[in-house]
Amino acid sequence: MEKINTGGKGILITLLLIAGCSRNTIKETGETLDITVSVVSQEYFVEKIGGDRVSVNVMVEPGASPHTYEPKPQQLQALSEAEAYVTIGDTFEDAWMTRLKSVNQNMIIIDSGAGIERLPLSHHHHHEEEGEEHGEETLDPHIWLSPKLVKIQAQNIYEGLVKLDPAGATEYKTNLENFLKEIDTLDEEIRKNLAGINNRKFMVFHPSWGYFAHDYNLEQIPIEVGGVEPSAAELGKLIAEAKEEGIKVIFAQPEFSTKSAQTIAREIGGEVLLITPLAPNWSENLLQVSEIFGKALNSKE
Ligand code: ZN
Repeated sequence: MEKINTGGKGILITLLLIAGCSRNTIKETGETLDITVSVVSQEYFVEKIGGDRVSVNVMVEPGASPHTYEPKPQQLQALSEAEAYVTIGDTFEDAWMTRLKSVNQNMIIIDSGAGIERLPLSHHHHHEEEGEEHGEETLDPHIWLSPKLVKIQAQNIYEGLVKLDPAGATEYKTNLENFLKEIDTLDEEIRKNLAGINNRKFMVFHPSWGYFAHDYNLEQIPIEVGGVEPSAAELGKLIAEAKEEGIKVIFAQPEFSTKSAQTIAREIGGEVLLITPLAPNWSENLLQVSEIFGKALNSKE
């Protein structure tokens, strides 16, 4: 019996070696930390800092909006094994966190948004309408789209991981420093890409880019009104505004309807470009978005 067991282990070790360092393999040895996050960009952040010591599980599936996503039963099942949940303060968490915590009362909550001052979510309104509907201000959840704010999130994730796994502290520190350098380089590249633009205003269906706009001195004009498609009258005003501002490109994202963006683009003789706030490769995506902005906002009359 003992001999057979030893033989079994030998085979297992060989398989592990063949599989290399694929995440599942490490996970099966029970050595990695299971970390759950809400949106895919956080997976990028946690993997950057956690390296091989973590295994990340994303709640909001690709193509879905975190503002409306409902977790699947198998995701709740998987969550019961998580050692930590890294929150970001998105509306998904407002709706689901109590339930998620009840599934796994032992997991540690790492608030990656701690210490970040949130801006009001930019609403579409015209100057003439000021004074209207300013009662309750929703705060903008899209803090993962600002490199500056991601540096704070990285620091929070780092501190959370060190608490959870002190043995990895040195590794996490090195990883954090590398990631912060990556963010600084990205920030410089974004600034270069935006250096030549002559129109700082851009129109976008869902206002995901408020912090990005704030960091890089751009102005976001959202099409969506309170989370829904604009009415015909509102659409009319947006078309007029787009013409007035010399806007030629209307941005939309794959996670939402592009219908009203297309209507506006057609009326102004412009085009619709899709940019996503939810890309697995966070760094590369922001770089691409800045290239797209650099071109779209540089249309000389
Ligand atoms: Zn959003």
